[in-house]
Amino acid sequence: MLTYEQARRTVIEQTTKNARPRTAATMSVWDALGFVLAQDVTTDRPYPPFDRSTRDGFAVNAAEAAPGAKLRCAGEVKAGDDFATPLKPGTCVQIMTGAAVPAGANAVVMLEHTRREGEVVHFDRAVSAGQNIVPRGSEAGPDQKVLSTGQRLGFAELALAAQVGAAQLLCANKPRVAILSTGDEVISIDEAPRAFQIRNSNSVSLAAQVRLAGGEPVALGNAADRVDDLRSKIERGLKEDVLVLSGGVSMGKYDLVETVLKDLGAEFYFDAVAIRPGKPAVFGKCSDTLVFGLPGNPVSTMVTFELFVTAALDLLSGAPVRDLPLVEARLAEELHEKPGLAHFLPARVEWRGSTPQVKALRWQGSGDIIALAHANCFLVVAADRGQVNVGESVPILLRKDVI
Ligand code: AMP
Ligand code: MG
Repeated sequence: MLTYEQARRTVIEQTTKNARPRTAATMSVWDALGFVLAQDVTTDRPYPPFDRSTRDGFAVNAAEAAPGAKLRCAGEVKAGDDFATPLKPGTCVQIMTGAAVPAGANAVVMLEHTRREGEVVHFDRAVSAGQNIVPRGSEAGPDQKVLSTGQRLGFAELALAAQVGAAQLLCANKPRVAILSTGDEVISIDEAPRAFQIRNSNSVSLAAQVRLAGGEPVALGNAADRVDDLRSKIERGLKEDVLVLSGGVSMGKYDLVETVLKDLGAEFYFDAVAIRPGKPAVFGKCSDTLVFGLPGNPVSTMVTFELFVTAALDLLSGAPVRDLPLVEARLAEELHEKPGLAHFLPARVEWRGSTPQVKALRWQGSGDIIALAHANCFLVVAADRGQVNVGESVPILLRKDVI
């Protein structure tokens, strides 16, 4: 059986091999959050475009503003002013943060370090050339590449595109991900459940996870545990880039997902991973569509999505694969787990002082969404660990959606 790291590497290898070429579309920067660039973005002019003052104060020639010097204030320049007059010897100009430093000035002295008497400004501290000025072109020259194809657009990247005037951006179309839950017990969330029935929460969590991972969810509802229904709905799912199924991949008599996929000509890359929850997770390819069969217990579905499907969606989005958000935390409460499988336990991490402290939450196993909704991470107990002691450093997988 593969470890989760091996299984994730398998997903990356096979997705790289099987990825269809991406199409792209032009988007407004207002709508492009979370998209991946399909073009480079270059500067239209130097940045900053002018020598910019970073302080409110006086623009001076540093050589004339030594301690004890007096200079006549010849005017004022604020952000947005076009101050064309060069600084004349023996003068200074009052300047505001963000304003263009006049030609002839090479330093800005903070207001707090000066004293003004009418027209005359007194200086009493050493001034060096370049002080409190960001020189024109020091962040980037003109026609310089500042964003690259394959780069994911977050708020800073969008701001940069806006700054250089790239109001429209060519972005990769998001991979389309069909979501199909399975199970005779599963009903739609707007139906009234009978005692033995369960609302289809997996389709909702999967759609959310697909969105967070940069994909476009296509909800296909639920298939009954019958070959005919599974087959027709899986065939519909095979029209998309990825098909994610929940349920029907365990060893039970009515776990038919793998059988139906096999009949449709699927090739499997793994059909079990050494993790709990999530051991029966399946990954393969069926007529050019990548297929993930995730176990149906809600926490298993969520964990296996985070571990495996996210990597495929990164690649299919045209971006490099993001590392799993694994960090180390200090264990606040002793743990006992059966060794053999890596465990992913709903847990809460808190940052008190410099070291994050983590505690596993009480839960009733992989059906317990109520426990998971209190968790902000999964505590990872390595397969070879039975007991983990208070104070030990343990890996945690962050829930980036709530942290
Ligand atoms: P399975 O992997 O098909 O054996 O499903 C395991 C358990 O997960 C089922 O008994 C249900 O309790 C639960 N389950 C399966 N599918 C869903 C779903 N779509 N939404 C919520 N819970 C589900
Ligand atoms: Mg089932």
